[in-house]
Amino acid sequence: MKTLAVLGATGSIGASTLDVVARHPDKYRVGVLAAHRSVDALTELCARFRPELAVIADAACERELRERLHARGVASRVEAGPHALVEAASGAHCDTVVAAIVGAAGLESTLAAARAGKRLLLANKEAVVMAGDLLAAALREGGGTLLPLDSEHNAVFQCLPREHADLDAVGVKRILLTASGGPFRGRSAAELATITPEQACAHPNWRMGRKISVDSATLMNKGLEVIEAHHLFRAPATRIEVVVHPQSIIHSLVEYADGSLLAQLGNPDMRTAIAHALAWPERIDAGVAALDLVRLGRLDFEAPDLATFRCLALAYQALATGGAATIVLNAANEEAVAAFLDARLPFLAIAETIERCLAEAPTGAPADLAAILDADLTARRHAQRMIAALSA
Ligand code: NDP
Repeated sequence: MKTLAVLGATGSIGASTLDVVARHPDKYRVGVLAAHRSVDALTELCARFRPELAVIADAACERELRERLHARGVASRVEAGPHALVEAASGAHCDTVVAAIVGAAGLESTLAAARAGKRLLLANKEAVVMAGDLLAAALREGGGTLLPLDSEHNAVFQCLPREHADLDAVGVKRILLTASGGPFRGRSAAELATITPEQACAHPNWRMGRKISVDSATLMNKGLEVIEAHHLFRAPATRIEVVVHPQSIIHSLVEYADGSLLAQLGNPDMRTAIAHALAWPERIDAGVAALDLVRLGRLDFEAPDLATFRCLALAYQALATGGAATIVLNAANEEAVAAFLDARLPFLAIAETIERCLAEAPTGAPADLAAILDADLTARRHAQRMIAALSA
């Protein structure tokens, strides 16, 4: 029996995780559920899964959550504030942490889970982009296991041999990350000028939170994933390639020295990756429909359009630059996407904001968490000034 902390329980990954968990009450129990401000949704989840601990990151919502839980007869203890997330991720109420908070807000709890030796099911890619080396060190220190939830990285994990010192030792030439191309695949820059948040969030294949949906539309999601793959699989950027595959059936591939390409296929449903990571090295039912290859008929591939979707090129650039560049990339992207979703910034200005911020990224590599958070904050302030200038 594994006991889970689901951080980001009220989000899209949280919902998929809890759906899989509910199918296997003999294998998983929920020890902690955490959210930011969604008191109603968190109350409903607590009433259903009865965790020992409910965490609400925004301390202003603590009282309301207590009252709602009390009214529903739910005895979960309530903790509030960002620090409560860190304590929940590393404390005794769980052995497995689902890191599914969106953005930099998930960094500290992800690191805490790793340092505490928890089994870490990682969706929060921004944490890896900001602090990949620190996360690797925390995992070594804690001795726990990281299992990727991002469908691409989960696919690569499944296509790699279980034990390997490095990619060369097992004859891996390249990692190929597939990308759906998002809702605007094939469009020109001129056609993207008037895109609205609703259009950007209408992904053709996946139902996801709004931030990652916009990232998919700009291809920044794939850029963040290239950086994530670099850290998770210790692969240089030159050996990580992106191929557009509009059907999202092949979730990624590994190319070997002998010419073999191993791929993981499945319907585009996050529950497959989540079930894999929950049960690994075993397999459990995820509730996902079987893939009907005959009905599917064909799989298409094309090169990404880096000139129109500049965010992907900017992510490769940040990875090559090193130092604080990937922190700046992530911070500028989070600020720009929030401004776009708020109708304060045009779609195409997301890339523009990031490019301008990267041009002024500090060169030194932050040595610890405090330095990373400082670089993140500085980059956000810079991005906010850029956004004000670009939206004026
Ligand atoms: P959602 O927007 O659907 O959910 C985000 C969750 O994070 C919510 O539970 C939200 O709580 C919580 N949250 C937001 N801000 C904070 C904060 N400051 N402190 C604590 N909790 C916070 O996002 P997704 O589920 O789509 O994505 C989550 C992560 O998983 C992202 O990093 C994303 O890139 C990654 N991912 C998502 C995939 C998907 O299919 N959705 C696929 C692969 C990766 P509240 O409801 O209270 O705001």
